[in-house]
Amino acid sequence: MSRIGIFGATGRMGLSVVRAAAELDGVEVAAAVGRREVPDVGVLAGVGANGVSVGTELSALAEVDAIVDFSLATVSERLFEFAREAKRPLVTGTTGMDEAAEASLRRLSEVVPVVAAPNFSQGVTLLFHLAGIAASRLPGFDAEIFELHHRRKVDSPSGTAVRLGEVVREAKELAPDAYRHGREGAVGPRQDGELGMLALRGGDIVGEHTLFLCGEGERMEITHRAGDRGIFAQGALRAAGWVSDQGPGLYGMADVMGLG
Ligand code: NAD
Repeated sequence: MSRIGIFGATGRMGLSVVRAAAELDGVEVAAAVGRREVPDVGVLAGVGANGVSVGTELSALAEVDAIVDFSLATVSERLFEFAREAKRPLVTGTTGMDEAAEASLRRLSEVVPVVAAPNFSQGVTLLFHLAGIAASRLPGFDAEIFELHHRRKVDSPSGTAVRLGEVVREAKELAPDAYRHGREGAVGPRQDGELGMLALRGGDIVGEHTLFLCGEGERMEITHRAGDRGIFAQGALRAAGWVSDQGPGLYGMADVMGLG
């Protein structure tokens, strides 16, 4: 039995993890931390009382087998410092981290195993894999990325689009400043070596990502559409079950899925 602690427990994703855990054997929500106190996180998630209250103190996470973090980039650094002190394996899906938070995550991964993924869906993990293959095998094709999310999303482009961009940029050996975000005005013709990126926001869209590879006379598109955020929670729980058996290091969902 894997005993997990959720950070960001009262958010959309935190509650989705509580619901996914309720349907899985072998995983138990043992602790929950958020910005506000709640008497029972199971009741809040709609899966019935599970006896786990949501507190605001990180110390509630000190004894769990793995911490699952879906919170805010601005607060995750504090969590990473705590996890390092408490030597707790971590799974984080929080996106939009700044350099300080990224550095703190790397420091944590020197001490404990960490899985960090901007998208825990198994389909998106395969999208990254296929995008790397396609972009490197079609070197003369122009790569452009499009993403679509719900109106409440605060970071843009999405963490998934950023990761997809990095996969494509490395596969095509483009410069770090190759990105062209939402072109506007008299920008001139597209240059070789550009990597366009466009983010749209609206309604309740869970998440959609497309890589376009455009050649002369043909175009390839690889799209992933998420219809239910339960897929992210299921992937995060799969990662939580996997992470506590690993040595210290920074892993991705491809490692969890054995894609290497
Ligand atoms: P949300 O706004 O619904 O939830 C954020 C949570 O953070 C809330 O529970 C809030 O209480 C908590 N929080 C804020 N300040 C806090 C503090 N000081 N201490 C403790 N908790 C605090 O957002 P969401 O839709 O659940 O998304 C959370 C994060 O997960 C975002 O970064 C989002 O981009 C990311 N996300 C990742 C994946 C993935 O698969 N990796 C999927 C969906 C969302």
